[in-house]
Amino acid sequence: MTVLDRVLRRAILSAADSPRLGRLVQRHGMRLGAARFVAGETVDEAVPVLRRLNERGLLTNTTILGEGVTDEQQTRVVVDDYRMLLDRIAAERLRTNVALKLTHLGLALGEELAYANVRELVEHAASLGNFVRIDMEESAYVDATLRIYRRLRESGLVNVGTVLQAYLYRTEADLESLLELEPNLRIVKGAYLEPPEVAYPRKQDVDAAFARLVERSLTAAGFTAVATHDERLIEHTIAFAERERVPRQRFQFQLLYGVRPQLQLELVRRGHAVLVAAPYGPDWYRYLMRRLAERPANLLFFARSLLRR
Ligand SMILES: Cc1cc2nc3c(=O)[nH]c(=O)nc-3n(C[C@H](O)[C@H](O)[C@H](O)COP(=O)(O)OP(=O)(O)OC[C@H]3O[C@@H](n4cnc5c(N)ncnc54)[C@H](O)[C@@H]3O)c2cc1C
Repeated sequence: MTVLDRVLRRAILSAADSPRLGRLVQRHGMRLGAARFVAGETVDEAVPVLRRLNERGLLTNTTILGEGVTDEQQTRVVVDDYRMLLDRIAAERLRTNVALKLTHLGLALGEELAYANVRELVEHAASLGNFVRIDMEESAYVDATLRIYRRLRESGLVNVGTVLQAYLYRTEADLESLLELEPNLRIVKGAYLEPPEVAYPRKQDVDAAFARLVERSLTAAGFTAVATHDERLIEHTIAFAERERVPRQRFQFQLLYGVRPQLQLELVRRGHAVLVAAPYGPDWYRYLMRRLAERPANLLFFARSLLRR
């Protein structure tokens, strides 16, 4: 990552918190290119996108976009929407599970509220034979997220997983303490703006931590979702799994909708399980800004759409 990329990344992630810019982008953004990363604004738009991905041999997950809900009644609406989504996935026979954010379910209001809400959804998913993954958000939420994941697992629910972020110094210790649960973990690099007190500032340190976490997770019991578009890390994972004779059912690759679609299909062709994360919903602004920050060159893609209008 160049210095310019780093500066742009910070600027884009800071802009992600601007409600004014959000309203502006939200008005035209879908037509300008947000649709590249988002499967639609409604469930009816998302279903055919998910089906097309399934037809190409890709597993999928979806998310109703939204985060940072600060009104308890609003979290009830979100839970009901997710219940309907899970029912719809079952009715449509999609190979799709659900990933959600605890701050969408009220974590900023209180841990008990978020726990009760996510528990209801994990139980509902279990009744339908489906699975829920709890995304990882800013570092301030990591302790509460891992506590909630542990509580769900210790209460006997098995159809739930969470995420660990390689950029945090704490994550290797977090992985060690979770291993006794035989966890289902998605390993990512980390998408938020974090200070050097908590996260590696240098990309090569994040990449090295990612490789260590994947290796440790693959050689322990449980399931590992290797979520990256970084071809070097993907090839490293494949070579490591072959060398250590890790069965292919014990891990999968996960990539984002709209990012490296050819690589997604190539991995399927090579016999690997690949899941594409394809979120939807009208509240896509902050999600989009994180995708732009990961690759500031994506801004050019937006600028070109703007010029073509
Ligand atoms: C399925 C999935 C779930 C995720 N869940 C979480 C989560 O719960 N919490 C969290 O903090 N983060 C999450 N992330 C985001 C993650 O933390 C990274 O920000 C993101 O994956 C980019 O890093 P990378 O591993 O692809 O590697 P990078 O080193 O950033 O990128 C490697 C290469 O991939 C390509 N690339 C990467 N990102 C993009 C993009 N946006 N657009 C176009 N090309 C791109 C580029 O060619 C780049 O050179 C998730 C990512 C995935 C794939």
